[in-house]
Amino acid sequence: MIEYKGRYIVNMRTYKIHDTCNTKKGCKLNKMQQSNAVFYNKLCEAKNYPNEITPKTETCKYCF
Ligand SMILES: [Zn+2]
Repeated sequence: MIEYKGRYIVNMRTYKIHDTCNTKKGCKLNKMQQSNAVFYNKLCEAKNYPNEITPKTETCKYCF
């Protein structure tokens, strides 16, 4: 289980965005390594990972 440091978590390996306030069964958030997690408080910031010119993220189909 990872420690939440913001509402939205980007998995830096898969580029999936998870919403810690809306996790569902099927979401593999609890299997993510802390070292792969990047935290944001705003969804718009999470979506711009790794940068706003070439964002690579997609939202988790369970959390969103
Ligand atoms: Zn999720």
